[in-house]
Amino acid sequence: MQNIDWENLDFSYMKTPLRFVNNYKDGKWDKGALTEDDKVTITECAGVLQYSQSVFEGLKAYRTKDNRVVTFRADLNAERMVNSAIRLEMPPYPAEKFLEAVDMTVKANEDYVPPYGSGATLYIRPYMFGSNAVIGVKPANEYQFRVFVTPVGPYFKGGAIPITLRVCDYDRAAPHGTGNIKAGLNYAMSLQAIVEAHRLGFDENLYLDAAERKYVEETGGANFIFVKKDGTIVTPRSDSILPSITRRSICFVAEHYLGLKVEQRRVLFDEVSEFAECGVCGTAAVISPVGAIFDHGKLIKFPSGMDKPGEITEKLYETLTKIQYGEIEAPEGWLREIK
Ligand SMILES: *Cc1c(COP(=O)(O)O)cnc(C)c1O
Repeated sequence: MQNIDWENLDFSYMKTPLRFVNNYKDGKWDKGALTEDDKVTITECAGVLQYSQSVFEGLKAYRTKDNRVVTFRADLNAERMVNSAIRLEMPPYPAEKFLEAVDMTVKANEDYVPPYGSGATLYIRPYMFGSNAVIGVKPANEYQFRVFVTPVGPYFKGGAIPITLRVCDYDRAAPHGTGNIKAGLNYAMSLQAIVEAHRLGFDENLYLDAAERKYVEETGGANFIFVKKDGTIVTPRSDSILPSITRRSICFVAEHYLGLKVEQRRVLFDEVSEFAECGVCGTAAVISPVGAIFDHGKLIKFPSGMDKPGEITEKLYETLTKIQYGEIEAPEGWLREIK
């Protein structure tokens, strides 16, 4: 194992020895291979540079209690990347090849999978982009698919402290737009909103639905989990939010491990003040507890407070992370061992 101060890693890029590259040309994907070369060389007129034709994924490899290296529900990332590619007129990267590429890249950088108990993990970034010259607006006909990995620290050092959101006046995704796929362009347009939120002292933006501005959508990069006073989990349903794999997993855990009821439905922003707990979920942090939401001069405070996560949020976090680290039994097919 590499001699790295695992406990003090943050969420940033560290170059590791090997990455996977595969090219698409003349209507087919190549075999693909690992390379030491971290540089991408493409034409100045590449489709990705001119018209942002690019999609990505994010998942993690964990070192379990019994020292196996596993990825978590990678099959769902593979499937989601196929859907993202189709929406941007890119050739889908076959799901089975996606899984092989992820396995191969993690295996090749195994020394960088942080030790069990450090709180750190190996973040995996598969992505693909249009690589040939495109000047008139149309899909590229050559693409590159790549996977790199980077060790990242625990998202919350010293425990999860609740964050504060603000209701954002910018929109994230239009109905029938690209909000439900993992496209780089969805992040480019969220940058101004997040910089502004930070400048004003908030941690993240809460986006409302773009059509009516009445329903809760998600933050810039995480889905909502609300908890009602009776312990029922409520999570927004919308065609313009990104289908989070963490959210799907949390809902399953809530029902099947904790015996809670789960409602997936449209959530009016007006309902939010009635919830007992709130969290936002995604691969990076699993669940970030939300303590308060600022809505144009009005502060909605959750009863769980600003010092610690709500009781059920905490239980969901604990149960899901124990599954990921092999401390309690995972549902069939959730962990994929890298051998
Ligand atoms: C990736 C992403 C999420 C979280 O999805 P996970 O699969 O749980 O990591 C949520 N919202 C957006 C906009 C995202 O891009």
